[in-house]
Amino acid sequence: MLDTTMDDQVSAILTEFGAALAAGDIDGTVAMFQEDCYWRDLVTFTWNIKTVEGRDEVADMLRHQLAATKPSNWQIANGEAVTEEAGVVTAWITFETGVARGYGLIRLKGGKIWTLLTSMVALKGHEEPLGSDRPLGAKHGSDKHRPTWAEERDAEARDLGTLQQPEVLIIGGGQGGIALGARLRQLGVPTIIVEKNARPGDSWRNRYKSLCLHDPVWYDHLPYLPFPPNWPIFAPKDKIGDWLEMYTKVMELNYWTKTTCKHASYDETAREWTVVVDRDGSEVTLKPKQLVLATGMSAKANMPKFEGMARFKGEQHHSSRHPGPDAYKGKRAVVIGSNNSAHDISAALWENDVDVTMLQRSSTMIVKSDTLMDIGMGDLYSERALRAGITTDKADMISASMPYRIMHKGQTELTQKMRERDATFYAALKKAGFWLDYGDDGSGLSMKYLRRGSGYYIDVGASQLIIDGKIKLAHGNVKEITEDGVVLEDGTVLPADVIVYATGFGSMNGWAADLIGQDVADKVGKCWGIGSATTKDPGPWVGEQRNMWKPTHQNGLWFHGGNLHQSRHYSQFLSLQLKARMQGIPTPVYGIPQTDHLG
Ligand SMILES: Cc1cc2nc3c(=O)[nH]c(=O)nc-3n(C[C@H](O)[C@H](O)[C@H](O)COP(=O)(O)OP(=O)(O)OC[C@H]3O[C@@H](n4cnc5c(N)ncnc54)[C@H](O)[C@@H]3O)c2cc1C
Repeated sequence: MLDTTMDDQVSAILTEFGAALAAGDIDGTVAMFQEDCYWRDLVTFTWNIKTVEGRDEVADMLRHQLAATKPSNWQIANGEAVTEEAGVVTAWITFETGVARGYGLIRLKGGKIWTLLTSMVALKGHEEPLGSDRPLGAKHGSDKHRPTWAEERDAEARDLGTLQQPEVLIIGGGQGGIALGARLRQLGVPTIIVEKNARPGDSWRNRYKSLCLHDPVWYDHLPYLPFPPNWPIFAPKDKIGDWLEMYTKVMELNYWTKTTCKHASYDETAREWTVVVDRDGSEVTLKPKQLVLATGMSAKANMPKFEGMARFKGEQHHSSRHPGPDAYKGKRAVVIGSNNSAHDISAALWENDVDVTMLQRSSTMIVKSDTLMDIGMGDLYSERALRAGITTDKADMISASMPYRIMHKGQTELTQKMRERDATFYAALKKAGFWLDYGDDGSGLSMKYLRRGSGYYIDVGASQLIIDGKIKLAHGNVKEITEDGVVLEDGTVLPADVIVYATGFGSMNGWAADLIGQDVADKVGKCWGIGSATTKDPGPWVGEQRNMWKPTHQNGLWFHGGNLHQSRHYSQFLSLQLKARMQGIPTPVYGIPQTDHLG
């Protein structure tokens, strides 16, 4: 390939790749990959969210999936330039399968494929009515007695769930359920979202009153409707609540408030769920084909069971039920835990003249928010990124293209840079007695989030209160709770009028146990974690987050959730999987990992 531009080289490789795939030449296709290679597929080849690693796994996946996938038309994406950095050639690509249109990112080293991301954008013939395909809205012409838009919406809202059964029922109307509901609406999938709270957005409003998002606005957009340019970088929780409420309405979601799912069971023969909900006091039975638990990955409170809790005379609650500091002025609080919620709650208590002690039971990863925004996220999610042409959609795809197996390497380098930049800060925290860690392998915050969804605090000020001794620090495990305090195993007594258990959240399959049954929860297994064999993310390696946004071992059962970024990005792939099933498009799934952990 002498004398050709990078574009020509990549085009030639894509043509060869496409030809090998079209010919069913698996050996030829695999030979185009490096030995050390990663192919991450978001639903196009595998009808799964799946990374295959190394040539053998690529070959195995193709042996199972290629004939049904019928890929074609591999090209450099329109208007995108091929780039090269440190010997890695990167190109945005488009392609098709028999039933879908795809978008992806390819990285080549020495002319061979190193990483490949393939993702589904649309099902052919079922494209979303967007842009030039948007609905007319007005009905030009005249018809006798024709209904208005509002009348049609009212009729739909009235009939869905009574005269017509939903194809999809989403349990939980937080941002996860709402984002997925919006995508399903665009795809024409009849969907009901049931939410036990009184208003959309209440899952944020109900959290402790000082909470602001820890992630910046560029990372947080919902599908179709980005936040306006005057939106704050770190939105206060009630503002996010209001945005979700507005979004639910303008996106025309069938959203049942004050509706609690009581029980669900699946009929394997009819391939249908029977779901009993309490809708504002009335029992309603729904019969959806697909059931999505969007009940929150940070919502199933891990309430510890300490000896003596029942005799405590003050107030005690899990962090998810903490109302904020107002009622505790002048009192003594013990906050058990040392991650995000513990820090936010402790700081707000201190600001409101509460004598607060944080009990640290294990080490915590701390990252200063401004450092994270600058060198951690700034290249992808920031005004700087936008100026460089990295839109949120592109940033999502770039993030998705980095295989989990090697992600920790870049994250370790980044964490090292953060440690150097904030060395004085970390030294002061250490001097104050705070137990710090940077992840088992030094790979820091993002990997902790992906592996275990816990174990960190993004510092927006509470760390300085610890350094200054304003938030007192205690260490160790709880031996018992007494009438008026917390006793640690070493005999230390922490007097308390209020105890906050900032002890985190359980796996989402716990929701399946509550609503469907322990057998189904066990069949499906733990949600979240990639099998990194690090703390709270036991092996074996699975290479993708367990059970999230993809088929599970229970037919018709799906889990959706995560932070705003994940809700936005992965709702695309979950919605397409659900739409394909509704249309009867064959969806042969490749590579659901076995269930290794029950929860
Ligand atoms: C302190 C804290 C700070 C956080 N900060 C951020 C942040 O900065 N950025 C970010 O993106 N994420 C953040 N998160 C994570 C946050 O939990 C999620 O991003 C978000 O709430 C997840 O949305 P969700 O829709 O998946 O779940 P949730 O918001 O938890 O929504 C689940 C919904 O399901 C409903 N529900 C549960 N059971 C039933 C039932 N049986 N019937 C009917 N309804 C039911 C609940 O009422 C709830 O509204 C934070 C979490 C916590 C706890």
